Amino acid sequence: MRSQSVSFVVACTALLVFLQSLAIVILIRMVARARSGSTPDRRLLRAAQATHDGLWEFDLIADQPWVGKRFKEMLGYPETDLNLTMAEYDAMVHPEDLPRLLQHVDEHVNQDTQFDIEYRLRHQQGHYEWVRSRAQVERDAAGSPFRIAGTIENITAFKRAEQARIEATLAAEAANRAKSTFLANVSHEIRTPMNGIIGISDMLGETLLDATQQEYVEIVRASARGLLSMINDLLDLSKIEAGRFELLAVDFSLHEVVYETVAATFLQLATRGVEPIVHIAGNVPTTLSGDPNRLRQIILNYVGNALKFTSDGHVLLKITATVVADDRVLLRISVSDSGIGISPDHIGKLFQPFSQVDASTTRNQKGTGLGLALVKNLASLMGGAAGVTSEVGRGSTFWATVNLQVPCAHADAAVPLLKNHRVLVVDDVAPSRECIQDMLETTGLEVVVASGVDEALCILSEDVAFSVILADELMPGRDGGDLLTAVRTDMRSRKIPFIMMSLQVAHDAPANSAFQPDAMLQKPLRGFELPRLLDQVINGTSLTPARYAGKGDVLRTFPGARLLVVEDNPVNQRVVRRLLEKMDASVTIANNGVEALQCWSAHHYDAVLMDCQMPIMDGLTATLKIRELEAVRHTGTRIPIIALSANVMPEDRDRSLAVGMDDHIGKPIVISQLVECLARYLNVDRSSMAV
Ligand code: ADP
Repeated sequence: MRSQSVSFVVACTALLVFLQSLAIVILIRMVARARSGSTPDRRLLRAAQATHDGLWEFDLIADQPWVGKRFKEMLGYPETDLNLTMAEYDAMVHPEDLPRLLQHVDEHVNQDTQFDIEYRLRHQQGHYEWVRSRAQVERDAAGSPFRIAGTIENITAFKRAEQARIEATLAAEAANRAKSTFLANVSHEIRTPMNGIIGISDMLGETLLDATQQEYVEIVRASARGLLSMINDLLDLSKIEAGRFELLAVDFSLHEVVYETVAATFLQLATRGVEPIVHIAGNVPTTLSGDPNRLRQIILNYVGNALKFTSDGHVLLKITATVVADDRVLLRISVSDSGIGISPDHIGKLFQPFSQVDASTTRNQKGTGLGLALVKNLASLMGGAAGVTSEVGRGSTFWATVNLQVPCAHADAAVPLLKNHRVLVVDDVAPSRECIQDMLETTGLEVVVASGVDEALCILSEDVAFSVILADELMPGRDGGDLLTAVRTDMRSRKIPFIMMSLQVAHDAPANSAFQPDAMLQKPLRGFELPRLLDQVINGTSLTPARYAGKGDVLRTFPGARLLVVEDNPVNQRVVRRLLEKMDASVTIANNGVEALQCWSAHHYDAVLMDCQMPIMDGLTATLKIRELEAVRHTGTRIPIIALSANVMPEDRDRSLAVGMDDHIGKPIVISQLVECLARYLNVDRSSMAV
């Protein structure tokens, strides 16, 4: 019904436009015909009145303009009062528009271009009216032009509205820029004290505390991290809105990005009975080129939400790819959950900043309502889109697409082929079974699936021709441990290699089984590792049980490194000092740029960590001075200077590098980033790094 009325309106509008154009053409013809004789006839005048357009002519031979009654009224002249020479007419045209008008006439007469132009004409009262003029030249039998006849329409009101719209848009853009700058400034101001809160509570957590104190410290840490992630989201959104968001273009391993991203989030599931599943389709290139950090952000947001709103069942992260050009794929990231779902009335409001479904569902859940808006913006920046399908009580699927380059040198590692082998997969969660089946079938294996121990034993009682059994450890009723015991105590099946899939970080045989599985596999399964492990198990080569990627906290040390930390904030001084001393470095603190210069002149340091904003002398000036002095003294050495700054916009980084700094680390400090950065610049013997 709605679409019918829309089509009706469109059709009417088109008809009106057509009729108006027709009227103008007829008018031009009529005026030309009428003028070729004497005065315009009655029909012509009636038509001109109906369109509210004025009529005019230029006699090119006599160089004489003629304008009609309506034309005169439009410019505030009584009917008889406007008998113009050509020069007088030109003088009425706004000086800024006259050259354009003359050129337009010239092109129409000499090149037969269309005559349709907007310009300003002076009103009798001195102001200008905007007009639109359309016309047609007339030629004699020899083709020489002798007259131009046309109409004129007053478009001043339309022009005013257009001008108002342009001004409103400019004002909105200016307000938006001001908002983004404000957000960037505020988030900088918040980041600095956050560094203190996170750093000190991390340190406090490492001291001897009773259980209640420990709990309180944990709350402070979790809240600070939550606040920081909100600030980061806000900053990202404002950067995108201000058009100042930069995407990386680097080669990265998709599998590494995906599994590292989900590792931390999925670990908490071990205690929650929600099954984590990761499925990267076989045709997805393993190496891609683009911004892995932004891909991580999309995955983290979706997976984080799915975990928040799912109390049992599964969370499935699926990645597929469609080839869109010789060297480009459209990656589709989808996260499906079996959680609370979203009602149709709320779905339309998602993906907008600060939009949350409603108080009753979000009351128990922390969040800002920024995550989805950010995902949508990131996806569209990367040439894709984002969306969701959902059903209340059954769960949701959030998806995002991103257009990425496939590096030309890329060649996927060969997957061992396991043809002529059969595997029994036992898992109670259907999406998990399907995912494992899909992963295994790409290696040529024949897969038989069972949804529980009883079904598996039933299959095994009739058929034991399996090269391997892959069973979930946690299943309702009888679980993986029970199946292992049953398989090992049955004469017919006891030789079949058994791999246990577990949610927990690799551990020994389950408590309810006296038997050891041949290997343990951490869930979510890493699809690309699976064929190799199965190959080892099936072909009896030496078996290294696959472990989940959790690399643990790697603390590198820089024994003997002498570092100068230039920082005015006493809390941050303590945080950075403690961090660096834990890495076995020796630390000198300078409170500002002047002190830094004094220290640098008097002692030897291996690197400087330099705050940018400081009283007395800021870090940028201090760096400039150090670089100047290095050049003057011809020492041949250049001390690495690393900016340690709460300003995290790309231009802040550029500013640091421009004055001669070597690197830029944002505050609050991420320990791994600091370590990585120091390792780049400190000429330490890597073998001395404790890992
Ligand atoms: P936040 O999670 O910080 O509130 P988001 O923008 O990430 O902000 O999400 C906005 C809202 O969308 C959430 O508050 C929630 O109401 C809804 N939502 C997002 N993901 C899910 C999901 N997997 N299941 C149910 N509701 C969801």
